[in-house]
Amino acid sequence: MRKHDVVVVGAGLAGQRAALAAVEAGVDVAIVSKLHPLRSHSGAAQGGINAAVGAEDSVDTHIYDTVKGSDYLGDQDAIEFFCREAGPTVVEMEHFGTIFSRGADGSLARRAFGGAGFPRTIYAADRTGLALLQGLWERLGTERFTLYEEWELARLIVRNGRVQGMIVLDRKRGEFEAIAAKAVVLATGPAGRIYGRTTNAHSCTGDGISAAYAAGAFLKDMEFVQFHPTALLESSILITEGARGEGGFLRNAQGERFMSKYAPHVLELASRDVVSRAIVTEVKEGRGFSGPYGGYVHLELMHLGKEKVESRLQEICDYCRHFAGIDPVTEAIPVYPAQHYMMGGIGTNIQGATNLPGLFAAGEAACVSIHGANRLGGNSLLETLVFGKQAGIAAAAAAKSAATPEMHPSDLEEATAPYRAWASRAEGEDPSTLRTEMQQTMDQYVGIYRTEADLLEGLKRIRALRARFQHVRVVDRAKVFNLNLTDAIETGHMLDLAETIVVGAYARLESRGAHSRIDYPKRDDAHWMRHTLAQKGPDGPVLSYSGVAYTRWEPKERVY
Ligand SMILES: Cc1cc2nc3c(=O)[nH]c(=O)nc-3n(C[C@H](O)[C@H](O)[C@H](O)COP(=O)(O)OP(=O)(O)OC[C@H]3O[C@@H](n4cnc5c(N)ncnc54)[C@H](O)[C@@H]3O)c2cc1C
Repeated sequence: MRKHDVVVVGAGLAGQRAALAAVEAGVDVAIVSKLHPLRSHSGAAQGGINAAVGAEDSVDTHIYDTVKGSDYLGDQDAIEFFCREAGPTVVEMEHFGTIFSRGADGSLARRAFGGAGFPRTIYAADRTGLALLQGLWERLGTERFTLYEEWELARLIVRNGRVQGMIVLDRKRGEFEAIAAKAVVLATGPAGRIYGRTTNAHSCTGDGISAAYAAGAFLKDMEFVQFHPTALLESSILITEGARGEGGFLRNAQGERFMSKYAPHVLELASRDVVSRAIVTEVKEGRGFSGPYGGYVHLELMHLGKEKVESRLQEICDYCRHFAGIDPVTEAIPVYPAQHYMMGGIGTNIQGATNLPGLFAAGEAACVSIHGANRLGGNSLLETLVFGKQAGIAAAAAAKSAATPEMHPSDLEEATAPYRAWASRAEGEDPSTLRTEMQQTMDQYVGIYRTEADLLEGLKRIRALRARFQHVRVVDRAKVFNLNLTDAIETGHMLDLAETIVVGAYARLESRGAHSRIDYPKRDDAHWMRHTLAQKGPDGPVLSYSGVAYTRWEPKERVY
């Protein structure tokens, strides 16, 4: 059986940073990734990475903005640590070879992002994620670890209360394999495909979050789902917040810069939850544009001039021209909010440790929590690097003191029995139908604005889909890249997570950050200043709550 000290699942920024830290700690490391590492969703990040590096900015302001942006649900000890690491992290990435955009004086160029007191988002044009990913990949060096490329984590093996390893599918051969590990780092990234309207890549199916949940880990704050205000209509391709950071305007069908009603001081640069709600309200109240893909508003860049738009927002120009047939230099971009980021995830401490010995997590799959109820743009790329490194260090240390993992030859046989059953059924449910119905349910009932009635209906539908999933059938007999099988595995993962989102949202009787309950419109600190924890029970998620860590910032009303 394959054995390693540390197995990192995921090769995006968080996974690669964790692997680098573990390699440097001198243990035997493997990375399992269902994609080629450079195709991870991190590579799609456009806008940039936050660090308070300018003389006029300060680490304290970055901390305060993050605490406020989180609607006071972020853990302030973690946020302080995170913001202090920002400057050194960006400098380190530059030393690893990432080329950032520069100002006229040669210093790091920075752009304004929503919810930030100063322009502190450092960028590489509008392809920051790819620039970071390439720098890190070269630094990591493929000869220093084992890479299981296009291998997909199916489930974790837990014995004696400790994670011992995992069962993975080699998609190229169509074979399941067992890998034993003294410590596992889950860095499997986003879960946005639970929704139909999402900016996330098709690979963002929350597998690691779901595997951790199935293994007994706590998921934290799953009800907090971020919707990005400006996704291209129809395709939901992201139009970076950098477009507004560079000076882009939002207008409704009456020509109004409507953000003046919702965030009179910072207008388009309010935080994402605020701008998303404003767009939905404008459309709902009849002031939006309408078309075959529903209501929308306009994002205008025309006044910025051809040179600025084409140099600072090169990819945005390409996306608009190729996917919407419009030229943002001369035409307004039709936009509407789409699911973008999960604030919730596998609950960890600052070192990336979960409640399960031997299990660590980092990146978007984890919830430390620094984003609380709402993440600020530019803080997530930083999170992958800061906490990826911590998780790698902690996992290597855990591996050094761990006993040989206890995996049994029968583990593989037992863990894969359900998949064989899916393939042997004469009739049953088609996974893609279940996935589409799940996405429609989440879009319609568990979106930006929530009510008790909608959430109950959403829960009923998700539970019915989970029941139908018991009869899922895989018809494709192919060994090589059997997408019917991976679709079934991923849909199962997403259905579990969808249930934790709805149950958490139904229970939380307040509005905070990205969680907007029309029936409970106010933030309720007396009862709800706490994290939701979901653990898997026999009949679905069992909720409990934990306190929020405070250091220096008293909760205040959040206005922009
Ligand atoms: C379009 C877009 C633009 C963004 N722009 C910004 C931005 O400008 N600034 C910012 O701060 N944040 C941005 N974000 C958010 C940020 O990019 C992500 O939160 C972050 O990059 C996630 O990194 P990660 O390493 O956690 O996951 P990912 O980069 O998604 O990597 C996940 C890895 O896990 C692997 N994996 C997944 N499931 C399995 C499995 N079952 N088995 C094996 N491997 C698996 C994948 O192969 C992949 O290698 C953006 C997000 C999107 C979607």
